[in-house]
Amino acid sequence: MKKHDAIWQQLKDKDSCEVLILGGGINGTGLLRDLAAQGISCVLVDKADFTAGASSTSSRMIHGGLRYLENAEFKLVSEAVAERNRLLQYANHYVKPLKTSIPLDSWFAGLIKSPMVFLGLPVTVGGRGAFVVEIGLWFYDFITRKKRQTPRHFFMSKTKSLKEIPGLRSNITCTANYWDAWISQAERLCVEMIREGVMDNPDCDAINYVTASKTSADEITLTDTLTGEETVIKPQAVVNATGAWVDFANKDLGLDSQFMGGTKGSHLVIENKQLYDALGDRMVYYEHTDGRICITFRFMDRVIMGSTDISVGNPDNAACDNDEIDYMMSTLKGVFPNLELSKGDIVYTFCGVRPLPSSGLDYTSRVSRAHRIEDSAPDENRSFPIYSMIGGKLTTFGAFARQTADKVLDKLGKKRTVSVSERPYLGAVNYPADETAKQAWIERVASANNLQQDRVAELLERYGTEAEKIASETNNTPLENLGEYSVGEIEYIAENECIQHLLDITRRRSIITITGRGQKPALEEIAKVAGNILGWDSERQTKEAEQAFNEQKVSCS
Ligand SMILES: Cc1cc2nc3c(=O)[nH]c(=O)nc-3n(C[C@H](O)[C@H](O)[C@H](O)COP(=O)(O)OP(=O)(O)OC[C@H]3O[C@@H](n4cnc5c(N)ncnc54)[C@H](O)[C@@H]3O)c2cc1C
Repeated sequence: MKKHDAIWQQLKDKDSCEVLILGGGINGTGLLRDLAAQGISCVLVDKADFTAGASSTSSRMIHGGLRYLENAEFKLVSEAVAERNRLLQYANHYVKPLKTSIPLDSWFAGLIKSPMVFLGLPVTVGGRGAFVVEIGLWFYDFITRKKRQTPRHFFMSKTKSLKEIPGLRSNITCTANYWDAWISQAERLCVEMIREGVMDNPDCDAINYVTASKTSADEITLTDTLTGEETVIKPQAVVNATGAWVDFANKDLGLDSQFMGGTKGSHLVIENKQLYDALGDRMVYYEHTDGRICITFRFMDRVIMGSTDISVGNPDNAACDNDEIDYMMSTLKGVFPNLELSKGDIVYTFCGVRPLPSSGLDYTSRVSRAHRIEDSAPDENRSFPIYSMIGGKLTTFGAFARQTADKVLDKLGKKRTVSVSERPYLGAVNYPADETAKQAWIERVASANNLQQDRVAELLERYGTEAEKIASETNNTPLENLGEYSVGEIEYIAENECIQHLLDITRRRSIITITGRGQKPALEEIAKVAGNILGWDSERQTKEAEQAFNEQKVSCS
């Protein structure tokens, strides 16, 4: 990828493209990667930064969706488990197995309610016992049996559970334990997919902070939101991958749709050693008294906990509010009553909107997480079709992108030439297969570049095997105010990852902000280093540092 201005210049020189993709979240970037590999010329635009929506604000679980079994969504669960396994294999630099423990209060609760939910009868969900969970987990294991990538489930007695998860409430009957997976940096995976797409097919471009609106039957005006400059493009097809914004984006293209009914979900990022130690390498997945499922697990050296599920109108207005913070803290204290937890431990909060289809359901957790493609055919006012990507999960983006790409290829009268499903993502190319190979990789790169092994291990975690390039080609001097990052890393991101704002670097190309490390001196230093590459004068550097600082401060106030 290049700098933003260079990509904009390229776009201005272009009159047409085969596919215009709106939205640079996991679905839009996954689609770009797939279509580019088929030789299709694509332009992807995002009205904000890439991954500014749900893809950077999810719970980061890469999972089959155990609880969707209760809604009889077998197809969704099977597809999600298959995609989870693919990601564990081909995105193993970011996607790792995650042991999951469910505290249970009884053996037989839910024996009546769960079948009622399964049959679609109205019921308030809540209180599943060990027997019901066992049925679900048995099925979960059954559908993964052929391509098993994770161990089988098991139950742990109350005594053993309380020993292994110190601080857990003591009035449980047992815990159910199984494996799913989590993704450390979905944001960087999206950027990798853009880079891969553009490398595969230089006739593809992806740019952030650009909006699209229809001006004539066959032309779309692209506007650079920072300069107001415009250019016009003629696409043969448009894919609307704007997640919760699908209806808004369609409206800008002159299409009236009411496909979406998003719900917002918030998360807390917590710095608390007792909780961190108690969780160990497992996620605790628990049901609050109101039936809401909450999760908590280690995220680097912090803990993430979430989330809420509240209907919203305009996704632009969604924010984590104080009621949600109180609610989440109270559920956490409910499940870990013996730990000292307080609101002062929160270092960051974030909120996103699930791109759910509109539904008449009151109980939002029961809205299907399956995806579909809405095909709006050309008409007398529009020469190109619009395909709207509705719903879905982070986990299933590969399948969703593939299905959308096939539909678009069909429309363009072209055939799929390659499959990208079994192709490692950029940072997973030659990723060490096991711990021994990983140690050897770290030792080799550390010694070749005269670096500490700890530092190389950190780079491998951040960039996958692309860390070798960062270690060997960039300035490894640590930042004075954030020693975990080097001057060269920031320069590399600023130079190569289409940066327009400091928050793009600290929130969506790195985990600086989400882990609560965005303190003023660090941000000022990063703004200066990035600013030298991006041509920001000192006034702009100060403004960017202030914006990034306020984002973190406001998130915790
Ligand atoms: C709280 C929460 C928890 C979740 N947890 C999980 C989980 O644990 N596991 C899981 O698998 N899934 C989870 N999900 C779902 C998952 O995050 C989403 O399904 C997925 O990220 C959607 O990706 P997307 O690319 O469709 O949309 P988004 O990631 O929202 O991307 C849409 C993009 O479109 C851009 N855009 C908006 N309007 C326009 C426009 N007019 N023109 C151009 N661009 C535009 C936005 O800026 C944004 O970057 C969760 C979601 C939320 C909100």
